[in-house]
Formats: sequence, structure tokens, C-alpha cells
Amino acid sequence: MDRIPDTAPPLFALTIDDGTSTPVLDAYIDFVVASAMRMTFFVNGVYESWTVLRRKLAPLVESGQVQLGNHTWSHPSISKLSGREIVDQLQRNERFLRNTYGVVGRPYFRPPYGDHNSVTDRITGDLGYDRTVMWYGSLGDATVITPARLLAAATQWFRPRHMVIGHANHPAVTYVFPQLADLIRHRHLQTVTLRDVFGDEPLA
Ligand SMILES: [Zn+2]
Repeated sequence: MDRIPDTAPPLFALTIDDGTSTPVLDAYIDFVVASAMRMTFFVNGVYESWTVLRRKLAPLVESGQVQLGNHTWSHPSISKLSGREIVDQLQRNERFLRNTYGVVGRPYFRPPYGDHNSVTDRITGDLGYDRTVMWYGSLGDATVITPARLLAAATQWFRPRHMVIGHANHPAVTYVFPQLADLIRHRHLQTVTLRDVFGDEPLA
């Protein structure tokens, strides 16, 4: 899946991955609170930000304003792993989400680097991850970019029905949070978590 259904008002899903930087994730949490927007984070439990910031993030997770999905434990390219290793990656991260936040990431899975195929889909599907979440539009911040470039990407991609990917890794985004909130407001986009739209029931 990479888009959300066509509805009125128009829906928009921002999905933020990894969390390699504790200060950047910390700033994202402040942004979520200040903007009241709904957002999905795809967590790698290996990064300490998710543990360090647990007390601050947990209330938002509990209220449902923030959804946590499974992005594997340590961010491998899963098509290069054995079936056993893929299972370990997902289950270890799922245990982390349960032990740290008391939530279930399943059935929402985002493959690191967007790398998945029919073989990995069968393995992840057998574990109950029947929502392999890709994206339609990127903030372009998996690598280091300028705040101006990031804002240009947001201006291009923050549109109705889009699932946009970003990363809590590099500080560029933290300089343009007010502008991102303005874009969402001026375009009358209603932010949603993926669970808001797609729920938890197995797909038919
Ligand atoms: Zn990632």
C-alpha cells in the first residue's frame, strides 16, 4: 500500500522511520504535540532514541495520536536475509514494541529501503504482517539534505491521499516544522495514522 482512500475531507499520512537521532525524534514528538497532527512512526528498536524517549512518546501512543509500526529490529535489507533471519528481525522488534510501549506493530510493516519481494512478502505475511507499507512521496531525508530541499519536497508531496515517508535521523526537518504544519493547514489536509484508515483486521 502506498496511498489512502479518496475521502472528504482529504486525508494525508506522514510516516516517519528509523529514529537514529534522539534529538531529532525528540523534536518530532514536540512537533506532534504542538501541531496536534496524527502520525505513524516505523520503529527500529535497535536505535536508543525509542527507549530514551519512551516516557515522552508513550502518552501519544496510548491516545492513538501516534501509531508505531514495525520497521525490523536493526534495519537490514530483508531480501538478503534467510527466512529465519527475517522472522527474527520482525519478532525481536515486535517484542521491543510490546515491552517498551505495550503496543502491537503488526499488521503494519515497512521494509527497510522499501526492499521486499514475493518471497519476503510470504514470510512476513505468514507472521501476520499483511500491510506492507510503502510510500507515495518522500521528504528525501534518508540522507543529509538542506532544510530548503526538504521543504521543497514537502511542498511537492503533501497532497490528499499521499503516504509520505520521512526520517527521524538528520536535523534538517527540525528547522521547517512550522512550515510543514502550515502546508497541512493551508491545504486542508486531515492527518491520519495508518490504523485510522486501514484498521487491524486481516485483509480479505
Ligand atoms: Zn528505514
